[in-house]
Amino acid sequence: MVTARSWSSITDGVDKTKSSPEERQEMQQQAVSLVNQISQILDTIPKEMILVLKTNDLLRSIEHRLGTENRSDGFLEEMLLQSSDVPQILRRNYISSGYRPLNRSIHYYLLSAFRLHNELVNVWSHGLPLFILLLYYIYPEVKESQRIQLLVLYFGIGCLLAASALTHLLHSRSPCDHIFWLIIDFSGIAIFSFCTGLQRHVCQGSSTKFSVYYLATLTLVVGLQYLTTCLLYIHRPFWKKRHLIRFLTCTLSTIWINIPLFERYFDQNSDDLGIHYHIRAVQWLILSSIFMGASFPECMAKGVFDFFCYGHQLFHLCILAVIWNIIQGAQYDCLEREFSTEQNQLILHSLIGMLIFVFVTVIFLRQDAAKKYEKVVMM
Ligand SMILES: [Zn+2]
Repeated sequence: MVTARSWSSITDGVDKTKSSPEERQEMQQQAVSLVNQISQILDTIPKEMILVLKTNDLLRSIEHRLGTENRSDGFLEEMLLQSSDVPQILRRNYISSGYRPLNRSIHYYLLSAFRLHNELVNVWSHGLPLFILLLYYIYPEVKESQRIQLLVLYFGIGCLLAASALTHLLHSRSPCDHIFWLIIDFSGIAIFSFCTGLQRHVCQGSSTKFSVYYLATLTLVVGLQYLTTCLLYIHRPFWKKRHLIRFLTCTLSTIWINIPLFERYFDQNSDDLGIHYHIRAVQWLILSSIFMGASFPECMAKGVFDFFCYGHQLFHLCILAVIWNIIQGAQYDCLEREFSTEQNQLILHSLIGMLIFVFVTVIFLRQDAAKKYEKVVMM
């Protein structure tokens, strides 16, 4: 009566099996033989419930006439959830509604990129710039100049944007999926940080001895930040000191990425056009960390910013400003310098090493998260 589907379709999952003419014929035959029992049940349930069932029935009849009854976003599945309906780990502070339902098919979450919910802005605020990066920066660079240093930086930015957009699109399926996609998001941040450090270091033109020393310490610092962020998120997601540790490791990582620029920051040479963009990138990064940490402005009015303009969305916009300034600065830095094959090989090998490290870590951490979160029930 509730789903208008046969018992076998219900046990197989109504979202997995599509309604067919044979199934409708089977339902019609069964309904005739069960008409007495159906009226007995309708006699015993509250009138408000009958109204809900009737409304559902009418909507289904409209969908049938429009030929859209097999859409996975049908009436019963379309409802967004309140924060109290989702597990604690999926809730955002001060965001009380607009959560997508859990345990839907992967299609449901992919199609949710075109429906309103509380992650929609987060998906597109990093998804759209990814296409712009590919079209206006990566494609022309590959076609014309082929500067490895800039391509490495663009690759890092692409990883950051793709990981972030996919995470916001797919993380709501279950606590286990949430943890997995957050690990992917942290991986994007680690690759971006490493690529930015690589590009800045090579464009500064240091000696080979310092190169090895700097790249080794950069790998250590970014690796430390990546591992602590992931492990603490898996094992102690609600521990308050987690935020402090994340803040400290992120600050250390930011300092390390900026080491190749330190001299220029202090010189502030007016001929040095690139450094002004790098300074602005740091300023936007500081602003982004405020939106990230303070849950502002939603902390001022719970429920008002559930869909638009909450802190994480503003954080995403600040990150776009950081990225744009980093790209502009890098383009000035890579303008005139000649790069040796040795330097190009060094950064390519370092990047491949980092990618292997991230890939292996994701595999291990995914198993770790699955063990812990498969047992977590709705809270
Ligand atoms: Zn995000």
